[in-house]
Amino acid sequence: MAIGSELVSANGFVISSMPIGESDRRIEVLTRELGKVSAFVRGGAKPRSPLLAATNPFFFGEFEFFAGSSSYTLRSARQRARFDDLLKDLDDTYMGMYILEVAGYFGREGIDEKDRLNLVYAALKALIRHEVKRESIRIIYDLRTMMVNGVYPDAFSCRACGKRLDVNAINLFCPADCFFYDCDCRDRIKGTARELSPALLYTIQLIFSLPAGKLFSFDVNGQVLLDLEFIAKRLRAVFFEEHRFRTESFI
Ligand SMILES: [Zn+2]
Repeated sequence: MAIGSELVSANGFVISSMPIGESDRRIEVLTRELGKVSAFVRGGAKPRSPLLAATNPFFFGEFEFFAGSSSYTLRSARQRARFDDLLKDLDDTYMGMYILEVAGYFGREGIDEKDRLNLVYAALKALIRHEVKRESIRIIYDLRTMMVNGVYPDAFSCRACGKRLDVNAINLFCPADCFFYDCDCRDRIKGTARELSPALLYTIQLIFSLPAGKLFSFDVNGQVLLDLEFIAKRLRAVFFEEHRFRTESFI
């Protein structure tokens, strides 16, 4: 190892892995402590390498890296939770890969990514539990990712007058600007507003307020799901800036 490199440890998920030559690998890891980092895994593609398991996406654990001046090299990895069950079902695998891709796209190096990591952990565990539909998991995950990114709409007050939205009344969503309004401000909305049922607004407010560990404890069905899918699609267009994720075509 290069002189002067220091050892750092971090906890997180392997979110992607690619071969380097015949026997090495480069992994991307979303960590609590270091944000998203890329690390070289010497010999990581060799069948007998102790680091082999840690080159697989969905590997979750504690990593030790040698920190060089401009890159990390993996020294050791200890698994803390297993997500192998995701691989038993192809649709779960694809949705899991989508979750990792989104986290990798928005994750940044050198910042606290604790909230993003907790979100990914909760979403992948929910996928394995099969108590909540994949479609619902995706919507909850995407909207919550916007919140982690710090760029998301306020679903608790009217965009025009600032009053708190009454969750027992009909409220409005504006597909053009992706903000929420009360009915008193209908005339101030650009374009055609969509009515939000109390159940729909309440669901959206839950997504933007529950702690990560409780986020995937409810499912969405029927008309609420259809309306929520429409709103999620508009929010993605605006708050994910129309980015097309590679894995999106598989889910
Ligand atoms: Zn208003």
